[in-house]
Amino acid sequence: PSITRGVTVEIPKVTWEDIGGLKELKKKLQQAVEWPIKHSDAFSRMGISPVRGILLHGPPGCSKTTLSKAVAHAAQASFFSLSGAELYSMYVGEGEALLRNTFQRARLAAPSILFFDEADVVAAKRGDASSNSATVGERLLSTLLTEMDGLEEAKGILVLAATNRPYAIDAALMRPGRFDLVLYVPPPDLEARYEILNVHTRNMKLGNDVNLRRVAEDTELFTGAELEGLCREAGIVALRENISATVVCDCHFQVVRNSLNPALTKEDID
Ligand code: ATP
Repeated sequence: PSITRGVTVEIPKVTWEDIGGLKELKKKLQQAVEWPIKHSDAFSRMGISPVRGILLHGPPGCSKTTLSKAVAHAAQASFFSLSGAELYSMYVGEGEALLRNTFQRARLAAPSILFFDEADVVAAKRGDASSNSATVGERLLSTLLTEMDGLEEAKGILVLAATNRPYAIDAALMRPGRFDLVLYVPPPDLEARYEILNVHTRNMKLGNDVNLRRVAEDTELFTGAELEGLCREAGIVALRENISATVVCDCHFQVVRNSLNPALTKEDID
């Protein structure tokens, strides 16, 4: 961590190579994010206003958080993270205060990425929430709108919001200058699953009988998070068998694979 004007900040270590699949998406993010942060002077010279917010949507466990960290790493930007659910559960006024404070810290530490997880909890369409808590959500949303609009003068800050319920996001947030870009982060297809399995077995010694292509074929509907879990569990099964084991074999992957049921359904993929 480095210290910028009294604020302790961290640049994530995650790189694009740590994320399997999603080639096109990575390219889009690179263009939208790295350029304006790295060349903010060139952008203002040309009179182009950079993207201020990006909404990432898609099923859980498919790398929205990891992508946001990779964006921050690539741009060598400080990473701040907020959870909509956490803000929502705070005492009256505390959530708004934390929201304002986090934007303020991000401004001080710019270039910054502010990652806003479970954004729909705070940014839900007005009037959608249940009656007794509607005001909490509305106040948080209005604070968020004010802060997003305040980013106009702040160079080098980008808000990345994540949700698996994009339809629930209030339309006011989707206007230009707020979340200018909406990107879908899909569950991994066959090739992506193969790449993800490669990422998460990088530091593992695999037996000659392990065929990650076959494992990828056999894990339709698995999310990135579930594939990561599968690799870890396979290693644990190998150790449980023999605590001095050095190699993870196909049988270990098989045992774990057969004990798991993916959380996604066919509908999530279509
Ligand atoms: P949530 O909506 O639940 O917050 P998310 O979409 O933000 O989920 P992440 O938190 O980024 O997902 O991913 C969870 C874990 O799964 C991470 O530890 C990450 O390493 C792994 N993972 C997910 N997708 C990939 C991927 N494409 N490549 C490599 N690892 C992945």
